[in-house]
Amino acid sequence: MKKSIAYAAYEPNKPLAPFQFERRDVGVNDVQIEILYCGVCHSDIHQARNEWGNSMYPMVPGHEIVGRVTKVGKSVNEFKVGDLAGVGCMVDSCGHCPDCQDHLEQFCNSCVYTYNSPDIHNGLSTYGGYSDSVVVDQRFVLNVSDKLNLPAVAPLLCAGITTYSPLRHWNIKRGDHVGIVGLGGLGHMAVKIAHAMGAYVVLFTTSPEKALDAKRLGADEVVISRNQDEMSKVSGTLDFILNTVAAPHDLDQFMALLKRDGTMCLVGVPDSPHPSPSIANLIFKRRQLAGSLIGGIKETQEMLDFCAEHNITSDIELIPIQKINEAYERILKSDVKYRFVIDMESLKS
Ligand code: NAP
Ligand code: ZN
Repeated sequence: MKKSIAYAAYEPNKPLAPFQFERRDVGVNDVQIEILYCGVCHSDIHQARNEWGNSMYPMVPGHEIVGRVTKVGKSVNEFKVGDLAGVGCMVDSCGHCPDCQDHLEQFCNSCVYTYNSPDIHNGLSTYGGYSDSVVVDQRFVLNVSDKLNLPAVAPLLCAGITTYSPLRHWNIKRGDHVGIVGLGGLGHMAVKIAHAMGAYVVLFTTSPEKALDAKRLGADEVVISRNQDEMSKVSGTLDFILNTVAAPHDLDQFMALLKRDGTMCLVGVPDSPHPSPSIANLIFKRRQLAGSLIGGIKETQEMLDFCAEHNITSDIELIPIQKINEAYERILKSDVKYRFVIDMESLKS
């Protein structure tokens, strides 16, 4: 067992604070990674504060992990000591159900999430990336390019794959008109990736001050979603919308922007339901409302390779772990461009 230091949520309404625990011994199929950087996802806040009602405490959040391999088990041949490696939202799955066979481990009924999941190895719960090390089965470890800025790669492990996967699934291609709703951690990755896929990107934001930035990130058009005139100008023009908003809001205003047969895919997971979408908006143009959950491991590697090829990383603000509670408050105010990443060196100070 290896002693690990971390930051944990101890209760829903208390700030995160230092925590110590032990990582399991490295098994034959395991990779031990020294965590160098970990991104801060809005899902970390939802779960640290028990907004989804399934939180186990103490909880060490963090599922956007990059680091360096420090030890490998006997049967590990894809990774060696010294390699860069990444870990995303999952650390295990059954490996043989139809979802696993289709490389869609995120839908496996036995999927083990990187934190806040029952851990068969210790009978407690899995602990995530706000810590100095992690031990993960090789099947869930990703190769990370050394050509990109490493701290800015961390958010690809969740924000990157969660936006890449639906854009691929709905076959977004050159010339498609794609709407992205919300310019946060997920939204800014979606803008960059959809742009790199050749789409005409329309960004919808509630924050007018982000408009210029959105164009720099790759948006062709920016619409302030609270402005009805601006919204009606793009009515019926979009092939696909990826909605990343983390709060309940009116979905109908966005459904009406889709062309016939267009789809809006939700990836945001608010703590309470959206007002129900209008049936007329769906049936008269045969529109579809859909959802998507992260992406499988094979597709996550494909996304990392795509980002390396297109020189795509996240726009980040690097913070020491001691600033994590302040960072949570700033995320809730949409006051970050566009992802906080924790420098794990700070755990030692
Ligand atoms: P984030 O950085 O906080 O971004 C969310 C954005 O939504 C904000 O920047 C803001 O954009 C917009 N927004 C916030 N409150 C709003 C409101 N009341 N009305 C309208 N717009 C609002 O969060 P994130 O890390 O990107 O995560 C977004 C959501 O996706 C979270 O619910 C998270 O749990 C979920 N998530 C899902 C998956 C999945 O697999 N499905 C994976 C990761 C995360 P503007 O300022 O531009 O309006
Ligand atoms: Zn996430």
